[in-house]
Amino acid sequence: MTAGVLEIRESTEALEAQWLHPLAARSAASLGRLKVENACQIRTDFQRDRDRILHAKAFRRLKHKTQMFIAPMGDHYRTRLTHTLEVAQVSRTIARALRLNEDLTESIALAHDLGHPPFGHTGEHVLNDLSPLGYHHQEQGLRIVTLLEPLNLTREVLDGMEGLTKEKPSFLTLEAQIVDIADRMAYLHHDVEDARRAGIMQDNDLPQAIRTALGANRLERLDCMVTDMVSTSAKNLSEGNPTIALSAETWEAMMALRQWMFDNIYLAPQRMEQTENVRRMLLALYEFYIKHPEALSPNLPATDPLERRILDYISGMTDRFAIEAYKNYLLPQAYRAFSVNMFSGELTQ
Ligand code: MG
Repeated sequence: MTAGVLEIRESTEALEAQWLHPLAARSAASLGRLKVENACQIRTDFQRDRDRILHAKAFRRLKHKTQMFIAPMGDHYRTRLTHTLEVAQVSRTIARALRLNEDLTESIALAHDLGHPPFGHTGEHVLNDLSPLGYHHQEQGLRIVTLLEPLNLTREVLDGMEGLTKEKPSFLTLEAQIVDIADRMAYLHHDVEDARRAGIMQDNDLPQAIRTALGANRLERLDCMVTDMVSTSAKNLSEGNPTIALSAETWEAMMALRQWMFDNIYLAPQRMEQTENVRRMLLALYEFYIKHPEALSPNLPATDPLERRILDYISGMTDRFAIEAYKNYLLPQAYRAFSVNMFSGELTQ
């Protein structure tokens, strides 16, 4: 490798030192990785983390995991992958505007939902109820990147993921604070849009107070939340207060929108019926693997108890993989229109 290439990472680190806000995380001053590695000649440590996450199998599986609608047939509905990409985009915009570390922000955003099971939060609640070990997607995300598909990420990225596991999220970096709030902004923004697309609601159904505070349509709402977060946080940082936040009024309106979404969309009766179907399916799969541990992936840590391996396996499934496994193992032959290779995920008719 030539000396010229070596200078690329070093000059990026020098640019960070010049350009970033004094409170930003600097890749040259990273807290490092659990296993020490040589630095990359081209990329900073945080850029390298982003690439590792993007290349992970758990990341690719997000494309067939529920965001709001289960295994949606429409091509325009969000999945857990497009949600993740929207969180990353919103987070990067905010990080760049505040002169914080965009690469670290992006890495945390791309990793923040890696541990999501099939069927979104419904799947999460069912697995948590079923398993004596309990189940939370944020903890599972950490388990994936440290054990199941070890990526040896920097401590800053792990902290961004770990901070979300706490009842009251807390983080080492401002970059992780951005992702925590941008996640909520992104899902409220796009879940309203998807519910509208599905004909479940219209913009005008939202209470007037929310429309006045945040805007009348999706573009206005996202712009309002992002602009407010940038200006409120910039003011905090200029006063030496290391807190990323929305103004009290916008935060309140966002929480009101969240509550409205729970009352009218997330917990609506039509969705509750789906929830019951998911519960039955995951329960049947869970019981099946208790009786047939040989059907689990051989790649799971053999020293782990069976309950843990089942949890790792089922939570790693995409919606369609879980549905196909259910059809394959638990329905009579006549109902099996497709079969799935349990290890490659390939579907064949
Ligand atoms: Mg999320």
